[in-house]
Amino acid sequence: MSGAVEKVRFGFSVNKDRQIDYDANLKNVSDIVQKAEPTFNLCISCGTCASTCTAGKFTDFSLRKVILMVRRGETKGLENEITKCMLCGKCQLVCPRGVSTRNLILQIHKALKTGAL
Ligand code: SF4
Ligand code: SF4
Repeated sequence: MSGAVEKVRFGFSVNKDRQIDYDANLKNVSDIVQKAEPTFNLCISCGTCASTCTAGKFTDFSLRKVILMVRRGETKGLENEITKCMLCGKCQLVCPRGVSTRNLILQIHKALKTGAL
């Protein structure tokens, strides 16, 4: 007997790890948005907005994800992400925390445009 152990492959693999580097991320976008739209702080990441989102029916857009990205300072790709929003306002009607979602999206857009980076 050779002693070699034959590997059995089940077709699964381990996901690549993803760490949030708060030191490298940009927090100033979050600060600007908080000042411009104070209801930003009321979001509890429940995802109700994402589940009712018009844009989410046709794309992978999620306002919940966008808010988390801003809070973490992960601004890479954010500009492109928020252009998927149609500003229909459905999310604002269902948000249990009264977040002014449409203005929030506009303020994020503005913060990214006006040299926050
Ligand atoms: S529905 Fe309101 S509280 Fe819930 S994730 Fe969306 S913005 Fe945040
Ligand atoms: S305003 Fe934007 S985020 Fe809100 S439901 Fe409409 S498309 Fe979705």
